[in-house]
Amino acid sequence: MSDAPVRVIFLGGLGEIGRNCACIEVEGRLLVLDVGIMFPEPDMPGVDLVLPDLTFLRENADRVDGIVLTHGHEDHVGGLSYLLRDLEAPVYGAPLTVGLAAHRVREAGMGKRAEFIEVADNETIRIGPCDVEFIPVTHSVPSAMAIAFHTNQGIILHSGDFKIDLNPVDGRRTDLSRMGELAMTKGIRLLLADSTNAEEPGFTESESSVGVTLRRVFAMRPGRRIMVACFASHLHRIQQVVDAAELSGRKVATLGRSMKNNVELARQLGILTIPKGMLIDITEIDRHPPGQVCVLSTGSQGEPMAAMSLMASGQSKFVSLGPDDVVVLSAHPIPGNEWGVGRVIDNLHRRGCEVVHSGHEPVHVSGHARRGELSTLLSLTRPDCFVPVHGEFRHLKHHAELAVTMGVDPAQVIQATDGDVIRLDGDGITLEATVPAAYLYVDGAASDVDHGILRDRQTLASEGMVMVVASVDLHEHEVVAGPEVLTRGWAGKTSEEILTTEAADTVRKALEAALVEGNHDVEGLNRVARRALGRYVGTKTRQKPMIVPVIVAT
Ligand SMILES: [Zn+2]
Ligand SMILES: [Zn+2]
Repeated sequence: MSDAPVRVIFLGGLGEIGRNCACIEVEGRLLVLDVGIMFPEPDMPGVDLVLPDLTFLRENADRVDGIVLTHGHEDHVGGLSYLLRDLEAPVYGAPLTVGLAAHRVREAGMGKRAEFIEVADNETIRIGPCDVEFIPVTHSVPSAMAIAFHTNQGIILHSGDFKIDLNPVDGRRTDLSRMGELAMTKGIRLLLADSTNAEEPGFTESESSVGVTLRRVFAMRPGRRIMVACFASHLHRIQQVVDAAELSGRKVATLGRSMKNNVELARQLGILTIPKGMLIDITEIDRHPPGQVCVLSTGSQGEPMAAMSLMASGQSKFVSLGPDDVVVLSAHPIPGNEWGVGRVIDNLHRRGCEVVHSGHEPVHVSGHARRGELSTLLSLTRPDCFVPVHGEFRHLKHHAELAVTMGVDPAQVIQATDGDVIRLDGDGITLEATVPAAYLYVDGAASDVDHGILRDRQTLASEGMVMVVASVDLHEHEVVAGPEVLTRGWAGKTSEEILTTEAADTVRKALEAALVEGNHDVEGLNRVARRALGRYVGTKTRQKPMIVPVIVAT
């Protein structure tokens, strides 16, 4: 077997929750592991989503043998359609994972460029020079996998997103015995593991515990209509809602496009069981007494255009909420979404609804392992080397420290971040190099929105804009039209008139002075106007709006 070093290139997800993407290099060939998106943060106005930097993969497209998916969450598969523009390679994953990913790829019009290959639990597939083994794990979407890469430098085990749920809804447990077997026979050279809950002590509760709460909540509200919002990909949660609805004699309707699509896909794959005749169309709910209706809705994160927000603000075409309705928010807000969720809860109360959420009822549990489970995985796999993945910087740090307390040699624990290239050879792991790993912002059809544009948007949003337009005669050295000062979102109406007249005078004087001094190029005059206007606005108002000079020469 070759003793060539193996490399892991981290392109996203190490330093933020989202846009997970890594690349494993074995004997010069590349395997991509997940291509996710990140949802924009509040300081990214107008951005729809954030992608990993795909420069490295684009430049090495001819070396990529395959794309391996751990599970169907957006932060792992949502960026696939963008990567497929740059390279063509088969995509491997569980049937549900591939189904969820393929749906998005087709929506983006990239269906023809993708070849999807379904893999079964515990299947091993040869991709390029590497055997890739898919090991079942429990998570907040069914069919999640850990991946073992059998390389010439030994086994690299990636946990995927996981928890150790001993009583999962579908009975499919995290395959600890296989991980232990690999550790005992061949040994785990390098473990890469989910750090999301690395700061949380103890063990994450079983998903089944949510079912108990849901059944109780449903049973205690006879005669009232119940709406439940959860992630559309959380099919185990959806199954438990369906079960609670069935027990309390309710029909179920879906609301929101992704909820409808995912329920359909999961039923086809046999992942979701809904008794015959129980699923009704959302347009039919009023034909049934309120106590016999349960609506499954999208929008548990307070997304402004999702079904739950529309219902809460009275804009839904299908459901009008009132004091007899019960709304269950079966999710935690992802960091950054608290404000949106809070507003939805407030609006629901304004309509008189009863709101049941995770703040006062256990209607949600996490899909990620806490410290107890992370220690269990470390203890079971006994890796030679360890790199924490999937987390903000603080999560990665806590996970790295935990690995050391669990006996991994501190010299073989690296807290890597996006763009780092880790080399694994006979001596262990080292941080070898870096590759580009900037945030790639997508806004509508444009994926070339950069930091400068975001800075401009922030200035426009917080301070407004002041623009000056004038034309100058470069031969006669005089201002022939304007300056006219126009503003958007800047000063109040009463002060604006005085300010703009004075500002225009100031700019005129500055331009005339510059022309007399012999400044005869338009670019230079634009600079003069910007400086004069900026200084005037700054002294008069102590504000820093965007200053836009438009000086044209006649
Ligand atoms: Zn996940
Ligand atoms: Zn994830």
